[in-house]
Amino acid sequence: MTTIDKTKPVLVTGATGYVAGWIVKQLLENGITVHAAVRNPDDAKKIAHLKKLADECSGKILFFKADLLKEGSYDEAMKDCELVYHTASPFTSKYKDPQRDLIDPAVKGTANVLNQATRTSTVKRVVLTSSCAAIYTDCTDIENAPGKILTEEIWNTTSSLKYQPYSYSKTLAEKEAWKISKSQNRWDLVVINPSLVLGPALNPTSITSESFTILKQLGDGTVKSGVPNLGMGTVDVRDVADAHFKAGFTPSANGRYITSGPGTTFLEIAKIVYAEYGTKYKIPNRALPKWLVAIFGPLVNRALTIRFVRNNVNHTWRADNSKSIRELGVTYRPLKETMLDSFKMLIEHKVI
Ligand code: NAP
Repeated sequence: MTTIDKTKPVLVTGATGYVAGWIVKQLLENGITVHAAVRNPDDAKKIAHLKKLADECSGKILFFKADLLKEGSYDEAMKDCELVYHTASPFTSKYKDPQRDLIDPAVKGTANVLNQATRTSTVKRVVLTSSCAAIYTDCTDIENAPGKILTEEIWNTTSSLKYQPYSYSKTLAEKEAWKISKSQNRWDLVVINPSLVLGPALNPTSITSESFTILKQLGDGTVKSGVPNLGMGTVDVRDVADAHFKAGFTPSANGRYITSGPGTTFLEIAKIVYAEYGTKYKIPNRALPKWLVAIFGPLVNRALTIRFVRNNVNHTWRADNSKSIRELGVTYRPLKETMLDSFKMLIEHKVI
Protein backbone atom coordinates (compact mmCIF):
# COMPACT_ATOMS: atom_id res chain seq x y z
CA MET A 1 0.00 0.00 0.00
CA THR A 2 1.55 3.28 -1.09
CA THR A 3 -0.11 6.62 -0.45
CA ILE A 4 1.09 9.59 -2.45
CA ASP A 5 0.81 13.09 -1.04
CA LYS A 6 -0.83 15.28 -3.71
CA THR A 7 0.85 18.41 -2.33
CA LYS A 8 4.26 17.03 -3.35
CA PRO A 9 5.56 17.51 -6.93
CA VAL A 10 5.22 14.65 -9.42
CA LEU A 11 7.87 13.96 -12.07
CA VAL A 12 6.88 13.14 -15.65
CA THR A 13 9.76 12.09 -17.91
CA GLY A 14 9.35 12.78 -21.64
CA ALA A 15 6.67 15.36 -20.81
CA THR A 16 6.63 16.65 -24.42
CA GLY A 17 5.28 13.26 -25.59
CA TYR A 18 1.83 12.37 -26.95
CA VAL A 19 0.86 10.12 -24.01
CA ALA A 20 2.67 12.26 -21.42
CA GLY A 21 0.78 15.42 -22.44
CA TRP A 22 -2.51 13.92 -21.29
CA ILE A 23 -0.93 12.64 -18.05
CA VAL A 24 0.42 16.15 -17.33
CA LYS A 25 -3.05 17.58 -18.07
CA GLN A 26 -4.74 15.28 -15.55
CA LEU A 27 -2.13 16.07 -12.88
CA LEU A 28 -2.48 19.84 -13.43
CA GLU A 29 -6.27 19.62 -13.34
CA ASN A 30 -5.93 17.95 -9.95
CA GLY A 31 -3.90 20.89 -8.64
CA ILE A 32 -0.63 18.95 -8.61
CA THR A 33 2.78 20.52 -9.28
CA VAL A 34 4.37 18.78 -12.26
CA HIS A 35 8.13 18.49 -12.72
CA ALA A 36 8.29 18.12 -16.50
CA ALA A 37 11.56 16.52 -17.64
CA VAL A 38 12.21 17.36 -21.28
CA ARG A 39 15.20 17.18 -23.57
CA ASN A 40 15.09 20.84 -24.47
CA PRO A 41 13.16 23.23 -22.20
CA ASP A 42 14.20 26.11 -24.51
CA ASP A 43 12.20 24.66 -27.41
CA ALA A 44 9.19 26.96 -27.03
CA LYS A 45 7.16 25.18 -29.72
CA LYS A 46 7.49 21.77 -28.02
CA ILE A 47 6.43 22.92 -24.57
CA ALA A 48 3.83 25.60 -25.50
CA HIS A 49 0.85 23.24 -25.01
CA LEU A 50 2.09 22.27 -21.52
CA LYS A 51 2.54 25.91 -20.46
CA LYS A 52 -0.96 26.71 -21.74
CA LEU A 53 -2.42 23.80 -19.75
CA ALA A 54 -0.73 25.04 -16.58
CA ASP A 55 -2.14 28.53 -17.18
CA GLU A 56 -5.65 27.08 -17.40
CA CYS A 57 -5.38 24.73 -14.37
CA SER A 58 -4.80 25.00 -10.65
CA GLY A 59 -1.57 22.93 -10.81
CA LYS A 60 1.87 24.36 -11.60
CA ILE A 61 4.51 23.17 -14.05
CA LEU A 62 8.30 23.44 -13.79
CA PHE A 63 10.58 22.36 -16.64
CA PHE A 64 13.85 20.46 -16.19
CA LYS A 65 16.43 19.57 -18.85
CA ALA A 66 17.11 15.82 -18.89
CA ASP A 67 18.26 13.17 -21.32
CA LEU A 68 17.71 9.42 -20.93
CA LEU A 69 21.31 8.71 -21.91
CA LYS A 70 22.95 11.20 -19.54
CA GLU A 71 23.44 9.58 -16.18
CA GLY A 72 22.27 11.66 -13.24
CA SER A 73 20.38 14.07 -15.46
CA TYR A 74 17.05 13.44 -13.65
CA ASP A 75 18.53 14.38 -10.26
CA GLU A 76 17.14 17.96 -10.11
CA ALA A 77 13.80 17.02 -11.66
CA MET A 78 13.15 14.22 -9.14
CA LYS A 79 13.96 16.30 -6.03
CA ASP A 80 11.07 16.22 -3.46
CA CYS A 81 8.92 13.93 -5.66
CA GLU A 82 7.08 10.96 -4.14
CA LEU A 83 5.72 9.84 -7.50
CA VAL A 84 7.61 9.41 -10.79
CA TYR A 85 5.99 8.71 -14.16
CA HIS A 86 8.60 7.33 -16.54
CA THR A 87 7.10 7.67 -20.01
CA ALA A 88 10.14 8.80 -22.05
CA SER A 89 11.20 6.23 -24.65
CA PRO A 90 11.41 6.44 -28.45
CA PHE A 91 8.31 5.16 -30.28
CA THR A 92 9.15 5.59 -33.94
CA SER A 93 9.77 3.60 -37.09
CA LYS A 94 12.23 6.30 -38.25
CA TYR A 95 15.40 4.81 -36.77
CA LYS A 96 18.74 4.05 -38.41
CA ASP A 97 20.44 1.83 -35.87
CA PRO A 98 17.95 -0.10 -33.67
CA GLN A 99 20.48 -0.60 -30.84
CA ARG A 100 21.49 3.06 -30.68
CA ASP A 101 18.12 4.65 -31.51
CA LEU A 102 15.62 2.34 -29.76
CA ILE A 103 17.18 -0.16 -27.33
CA ASP A 104 19.76 2.10 -25.64
CA PRO A 105 17.44 5.00 -24.79
CA ALA A 106 14.73 2.57 -23.62
CA VAL A 107 16.92 0.33 -21.46
CA LYS A 108 19.72 2.66 -20.32
CA GLY A 109 17.13 5.41 -19.90
CA THR A 110 14.97 3.23 -17.66
CA ALA A 111 18.03 2.31 -15.57
CA ASN A 112 19.03 5.98 -15.37
CA VAL A 113 15.58 7.13 -14.16
CA LEU A 114 14.92 4.20 -11.78
CA ASN A 115 18.41 4.28 -10.24
CA GLN A 116 17.81 7.97 -9.62
CA ALA A 117 14.56 7.00 -7.85
CA THR A 118 16.60 4.74 -5.56
CA ARG A 119 18.97 7.63 -4.81
CA THR A 120 16.11 10.08 -4.14
CA SER A 121 14.87 9.52 -0.60
CA THR A 122 11.38 11.01 -1.16
CA VAL A 123 10.34 8.63 -3.97
CA LYS A 124 7.63 6.10 -2.96
CA ARG A 125 6.28 4.93 -6.34
CA VAL A 126 7.41 4.73 -9.98
CA VAL A 127 4.79 4.24 -12.70
CA LEU A 128 6.42 2.97 -15.90
CA THR A 129 4.86 3.33 -19.34
CA SER A 130 5.63 -0.05 -20.84
CA SER A 131 3.52 -1.52 -23.66
CA CYS A 132 1.61 -4.57 -24.81
CA ALA A 133 4.73 -4.84 -27.01
CA ALA A 134 6.51 -6.13 -23.88
CA ILE A 135 3.91 -8.94 -23.76
CA TYR A 136 3.73 -10.08 -27.40
CA THR A 137 5.01 -9.35 -30.91
CA ASP A 138 2.55 -11.06 -33.25
CA CYS A 139 -1.05 -12.27 -33.18
CA THR A 140 0.36 -15.78 -33.60
CA ASP A 141 1.93 -15.34 -30.12
CA ILE A 142 -1.62 -14.78 -28.82
CA GLU A 143 -2.84 -17.94 -30.55
CA ASN A 144 -0.04 -19.84 -28.79
CA ALA A 145 -0.72 -18.27 -25.37
CA PRO A 146 -2.63 -20.11 -22.59
CA GLY A 147 -6.35 -19.59 -23.31
CA LYS A 148 -5.35 -17.83 -26.58
CA ILE A 149 -5.43 -14.46 -24.82
CA LEU A 150 -2.78 -11.98 -23.60
CA THR A 151 -2.55 -11.56 -19.83
CA GLU A 152 -0.15 -9.75 -17.51
CA GLU A 153 1.60 -13.10 -16.87
CA ILE A 154 2.98 -13.23 -20.40
CA TRP A 155 6.29 -11.81 -21.66
CA ASN A 156 7.38 -11.12 -25.21
CA THR A 157 9.81 -13.85 -26.27
CA THR A 158 9.70 -13.41 -30.05
CA SER A 159 11.03 -9.90 -30.77
CA SER A 160 14.74 -9.22 -31.25
CA LEU A 161 17.18 -6.58 -32.44
CA LYS A 162 16.39 -7.71 -35.99
CA TYR A 163 12.66 -8.46 -35.72
CA GLN A 164 10.36 -5.71 -34.37
CA PRO A 165 13.14 -3.95 -32.38
CA TYR A 166 10.69 -1.45 -30.83
CA SER A 167 8.88 -4.36 -29.13
CA TYR A 168 12.27 -5.71 -28.08
CA SER A 169 13.21 -2.30 -26.59
CA LYS A 170 10.03 -2.22 -24.50
CA THR A 171 10.53 -5.82 -23.32
CA LEU A 172 14.13 -5.25 -22.24
CA ALA A 173 13.27 -1.90 -20.63
CA GLU A 174 10.40 -3.33 -18.57
CA LYS A 175 12.57 -6.27 -17.45
CA GLU A 176 15.27 -3.82 -16.38
CA ALA A 177 12.65 -1.85 -14.43
CA TRP A 178 11.49 -4.92 -12.50
CA LYS A 179 15.11 -5.87 -11.77
CA ILE A 180 15.93 -2.43 -10.35
CA SER A 181 12.69 -2.23 -8.36
CA LYS A 182 13.47 -5.58 -6.72
CA SER A 183 16.93 -4.38 -5.70
CA GLN A 184 15.48 -1.93 -3.15
CA ASN A 185 12.40 -1.69 -0.93
CA ARG A 186 11.50 2.00 -0.54
CA TRP A 187 9.53 2.57 -3.75
CA ASP A 188 7.16 0.25 -5.58
CA LEU A 189 6.79 -0.19 -9.33
CA VAL A 190 3.47 -0.12 -11.18
CA VAL A 191 3.53 -0.78 -14.92
CA ILE A 192 1.03 0.34 -17.55
CA ASN A 193 1.01 -1.81 -20.72
CA PRO A 194 -1.04 0.00 -23.38
CA SER A 195 -1.86 -1.43 -26.80
CA LEU A 196 -1.63 0.97 -29.80
CA VAL A 197 -2.58 4.37 -28.43
CA LEU A 198 -4.86 6.51 -30.62
CA GLY A 199 -6.89 9.66 -30.07
CA PRO A 200 -6.36 13.41 -30.21
CA ALA A 201 -2.98 14.95 -29.44
CA LEU A 202 -2.50 18.04 -27.30
CA ASN A 203 0.52 18.98 -29.44
CA PRO A 204 -0.45 18.10 -33.03
CA THR A 205 2.17 20.37 -34.59
CA SER A 206 5.19 18.98 -32.72
CA ILE A 207 4.31 15.33 -32.11
CA THR A 208 6.84 12.53 -32.78
CA SER A 209 4.84 9.44 -31.72
CA GLU A 210 4.37 6.62 -34.23
CA SER A 211 0.67 6.71 -33.24
CA PHE A 212 0.40 10.08 -34.95
CA THR A 213 2.19 8.82 -38.07
CA ILE A 214 -0.33 5.97 -38.32
CA LEU A 215 -3.33 8.31 -37.85
CA LYS A 216 -1.95 10.77 -40.41
CA GLN A 217 -1.29 8.04 -43.00
CA LEU A 218 -4.89 6.87 -42.64
CA GLY A 219 -6.13 10.31 -43.73
CA ASP A 220 -3.49 11.78 -46.05
CA GLY A 221 -3.93 9.34 -48.94
CA THR A 222 -0.82 7.22 -48.21
CA VAL A 223 -2.96 4.08 -47.82
CA LYS A 224 -5.99 5.16 -49.87
CA SER A 225 -6.06 1.95 -51.95
CA GLY A 226 -6.64 -0.23 -48.88
CA VAL A 227 -5.30 -1.39 -45.54
CA PRO A 228 -4.29 -4.78 -44.18
CA ASN A 229 -6.88 -6.70 -42.19
CA LEU A 230 -4.39 -6.60 -39.33
CA GLY A 231 -5.42 -7.89 -35.91
CA MET A 232 -4.58 -5.32 -33.23
CA GLY A 233 -5.53 -3.73 -29.94
CA THR A 234 -6.09 -0.01 -29.51
CA VAL A 235 -6.74 2.33 -26.61
CA ASP A 236 -7.68 5.98 -26.32
CA VAL A 237 -4.82 8.24 -25.21
CA ARG A 238 -7.13 9.88 -22.64
CA ASP A 239 -7.90 6.48 -21.10
CA VAL A 240 -4.17 5.67 -21.01
CA ALA A 241 -3.54 8.91 -19.12
CA ASP A 242 -6.34 8.07 -16.69
CA ALA A 243 -4.83 4.62 -16.12
CA HIS A 244 -1.49 6.27 -15.30
CA PHE A 245 -3.14 8.73 -12.92
CA LYS A 246 -4.98 5.94 -11.12
CA ALA A 247 -1.87 3.75 -11.03
CA GLY A 248 -0.08 6.59 -9.28
CA PHE A 249 -2.72 7.39 -6.70
CA THR A 250 -4.39 4.03 -5.96
CA PRO A 251 -2.53 2.81 -2.85
CA SER A 252 -3.11 -0.90 -3.68
CA ALA A 253 -2.05 -0.67 -7.36
CA ASN A 254 0.57 -3.30 -8.14
CA GLY A 255 2.23 -5.19 -10.97
CA ARG A 256 1.43 -4.83 -14.65
CA TYR A 257 -1.82 -3.52 -16.16
CA ILE A 258 -2.86 -4.33 -19.71
CA THR A 259 -4.48 -1.06 -20.80
CA SER A 260 -6.51 -1.62 -23.95
CA GLY A 261 -9.96 -1.60 -25.45
CA PRO A 262 -11.26 -4.75 -27.16
CA GLY A 263 -9.41 -6.30 -30.09
CA THR A 264 -10.00 -4.81 -33.52
CA THR A 265 -8.39 -4.68 -36.97
CA PHE A 266 -6.78 -1.92 -38.98
CA LEU A 267 -9.59 -2.41 -41.52
CA GLU A 268 -12.29 -1.86 -38.88
CA ILE A 269 -10.55 1.35 -37.76
CA ALA A 270 -10.39 2.62 -41.37
CA LYS A 271 -14.07 1.81 -41.94
CA ILE A 272 -15.13 3.83 -38.88
CA VAL A 273 -13.29 6.88 -40.25
CA TYR A 274 -14.49 6.22 -43.82
CA ALA A 275 -18.14 6.24 -42.73
CA GLU A 276 -17.73 9.81 -41.43
CA TYR A 277 -15.06 11.35 -43.68
CA GLY A 278 -14.84 9.06 -46.74
CA THR A 279 -16.48 11.52 -49.14
CA LYS A 280 -14.09 14.40 -48.34
CA TYR A 281 -10.78 12.67 -47.59
CA LYS A 282 -8.81 9.79 -49.11
CA ILE A 283 -9.73 7.26 -46.42
CA PRO A 284 -9.38 3.55 -47.26
CA ASN A 285 -12.34 1.20 -46.73
CA ARG A 286 -11.23 -2.09 -48.17
CA ALA A 287 -8.77 -4.80 -47.21
CA LEU A 288 -5.64 -5.29 -49.26
CA PRO A 289 -4.83 -8.91 -50.08
CA LYS A 290 -2.16 -10.37 -47.82
CA TRP A 291 0.34 -10.88 -50.67
CA LEU A 292 0.03 -7.23 -51.71
CA VAL A 293 0.63 -6.06 -48.15
CA ALA A 294 3.70 -8.30 -47.98
CA ILE A 295 5.12 -6.63 -51.12
CA PHE A 296 4.18 -2.98 -50.54
CA GLY A 297 3.78 -2.88 -46.73
CA PRO A 298 7.43 -2.04 -45.97
CA LEU A 299 7.18 1.04 -48.24
CA VAL A 300 4.46 2.46 -45.98
CA ASN A 301 5.83 1.27 -42.64
CA ARG A 302 9.08 -0.67 -42.18
CA ALA A 303 7.45 -2.77 -39.41
CA LEU A 304 5.24 -4.43 -42.06
CA THR A 305 7.79 -7.10 -42.98
CA ILE A 306 6.81 -10.38 -44.67
CA ARG A 307 7.09 -12.22 -41.34
CA PHE A 308 4.93 -9.61 -39.59
CA VAL A 309 2.30 -9.73 -42.32
CA ARG A 310 2.22 -13.54 -42.20
CA ASN A 311 1.82 -13.54 -38.40
CA ASN A 312 -0.72 -10.72 -38.06
CA VAL A 313 -2.84 -10.18 -41.17
CA ASN A 314 -6.16 -12.08 -40.95
CA HIS A 315 -5.32 -13.02 -37.34
CA THR A 316 -7.26 -12.08 -34.21
CA TRP A 317 -6.00 -9.89 -31.35
CA ARG A 318 -7.22 -10.67 -27.83
CA ALA A 319 -6.09 -9.36 -24.45
CA ASP A 320 -7.55 -9.47 -20.96
CA ASN A 321 -7.97 -5.89 -19.69
CA SER A 322 -10.02 -6.89 -16.62
CA LYS A 323 -7.25 -6.19 -14.06
CA SER A 324 -7.15 -2.50 -15.11
CA ILE A 325 -10.94 -2.24 -14.79
CA ARG A 326 -11.18 -4.16 -11.50
CA GLU A 327 -8.18 -2.72 -9.63
CA LEU A 328 -7.76 0.77 -11.11
CA GLY A 329 -11.34 1.50 -12.20
CA VAL A 330 -10.26 2.37 -15.76
CA THR A 331 -13.08 2.72 -18.29
CA TYR A 332 -12.52 2.44 -22.05
CA ARG A 333 -14.02 4.79 -24.63
CA PRO A 334 -15.60 3.24 -27.74
CA LEU A 335 -13.21 3.07 -30.72
CA LYS A 336 -15.61 5.26 -32.76
CA GLU A 337 -15.24 8.14 -30.30
CA THR A 338 -11.43 7.79 -30.36
CA MET A 339 -11.22 7.78 -34.14
CA LEU A 340 -13.67 10.61 -34.77
CA ASP A 341 -11.94 12.80 -32.17
CA SER A 342 -8.55 11.93 -33.75
CA PHE A 343 -9.71 12.97 -37.21
CA LYS A 344 -11.34 16.14 -35.93
CA MET A 345 -7.91 17.07 -34.55
CA LEU A 346 -6.06 16.21 -37.81
CA ILE A 347 -8.51 18.32 -39.83
CA GLU A 348 -8.60 21.27 -37.41
CA HIS A 349 -4.80 21.47 -37.44
CA LYS A 350 -4.62 21.00 -41.24
CA VAL A 351 -2.50 17.84 -40.84
CA ILE A 352 -4.62 16.21 -43.58
P1 NAP B 1 6.28 10.30 -28.20
O1 NAP B 1 5.24 11.34 -28.35
O2 NAP B 1 7.29 10.20 -29.28
O3 NAP B 1 6.99 10.47 -26.80
C1 NAP B 1 8.26 9.95 -26.52
C2 NAP B 1 8.94 10.84 -25.51
O4 NAP B 1 10.21 10.28 -25.18
C3 NAP B 1 9.19 12.26 -26.02
O5 NAP B 1 8.84 13.17 -25.03
C4 NAP B 1 10.68 12.27 -26.27
O6 NAP B 1 11.29 13.54 -26.05
C5 NAP B 1 11.16 11.32 -25.19
N1 NAP B 1 12.49 10.83 -25.50
C6 NAP B 1 12.89 10.08 -26.53
N2 NAP B 1 14.23 9.89 -26.48
C7 NAP B 1 14.68 10.55 -25.40
C8 NAP B 1 15.96 10.77 -24.80
N3 NAP B 1 17.07 10.24 -25.31
N4 NAP B 1 16.02 11.51 -23.66
C9 NAP B 1 14.91 12.07 -23.12
N5 NAP B 1 13.68 11.92 -23.65
C10 NAP B 1 13.57 11.17 -24.77
O7 NAP B 1 5.62 8.85 -28.08
P2 NAP B 1 4.42 8.31 -27.18
O8 NAP B 1 3.57 7.51 -28.06
O9 NAP B 1 3.82 9.38 -26.36
O10 NAP B 1 5.21 7.32 -26.23
C11 NAP B 1 5.35 7.56 -24.84
C12 NAP B 1 5.55 6.25 -24.13
O11 NAP B 1 4.41 5.42 -24.32
C13 NAP B 1 6.76 5.44 -24.63
O12 NAP B 1 7.35 4.82 -23.52
C14 NAP B 1 6.10 4.41 -25.54
O13 NAP B 1 6.90 3.26 -25.68
C15 NAP B 1 4.83 4.14 -24.76
N6 NAP B 1 3.76 3.51 -25.52
C16 NAP B 1 3.23 4.17 -26.59
C17 NAP B 1 2.22 3.56 -27.30
C18 NAP B 1 1.57 4.23 -28.49
O14 NAP B 1 0.85 3.57 -29.23
N7 NAP B 1 1.80 5.53 -28.69
C19 NAP B 1 1.74 2.29 -26.93
C20 NAP B 1 2.30 1.67 -25.83
C21 NAP B 1 3.30 2.29 -25.13
P3 NAP B 1 11.41 14.64 -27.22
O15 NAP B 1 10.06 15.30 -27.27
O16 NAP B 1 12.50 15.53 -26.75
O17 NAP B 1 11.73 13.89 -28.47
